[in-house]
Amino acid sequence: MPKTILQPCAYCGTANVARTKGHVIQRSMRPTDKDPKIQWPVVPECEECRKIWQDAESLFRIVAVLASKEGNAAAEEQWFGSIKRSFDHASGPKWLAEMLSYLTPVEVDGRLHLQVHPAKVAKAMTVLRRTIRGLVHWHKLGTAIPDKRVFADVYRVPFAPEYHDRFTEVILDEDFCRYYYADLRADGEGYHSVWVIQFYRRGTFLGIVSALENGFPWDSEAGH
Ligand SMILES: [Zn+2]
Repeated sequence: MPKTILQPCAYCGTANVARTKGHVIQRSMRPTDKDPKIQWPVVPECEECRKIWQDAESLFRIVAVLASKEGNAAAEEQWFGSIKRSFDHASGPKWLAEMLSYLTPVEVDGRLHLQVHPAKVAKAMTVLRRTIRGLVHWHKLGTAIPDKRVFADVYRVPFAPEYHDRFTEVILDEDFCRYYYADLRADGEGYHSVWVIQFYRRGTFLGIVSALENGFPWDSEAGH
């Protein structure tokens, strides 16, 4: 049984219902032989919120591993270990078919490669937004941030160097997960915070949290 704790849910803010320990960085993605002293972010999470993404977590793990391309030991351990085994389960063929539907053939140096475009995998992006919402709570920048206030995508365009000193870096594990974040609440530009999360040294994702109740600062309808 999951350990029961008593604070309101970090994701929806509901009080007075059973809580479980919500692992912000999903446990199934972690390499097996990791330092037990690493302090993994954990937040209070209600059963209703847990249900939203429990199915999608396997999908996000696959997306993060595929986005990390080849050559990383931690990513390959996942691919050849537990992900491969997950395809053997009863729901395996369904997962595999779903994953294959996300692959796009791309020609690189005259050879055809299959690439996954994580941003097109809606369920995986739900998990990414959940991760960012959990980290907001974990770093005491706010709590119960609604899903609609988080924009998540692959990290495509690097931030300009002048922003770099605003970021705080957190390395949970060199080979598996590190992230950067900047608290933008004092800027008054409609942004709450920005996050860059990297898995397996390669697969890098961007999260932007809006400070607005409805929409994002770049949205013409924001605030109305
Ligand atoms: Zn909840």
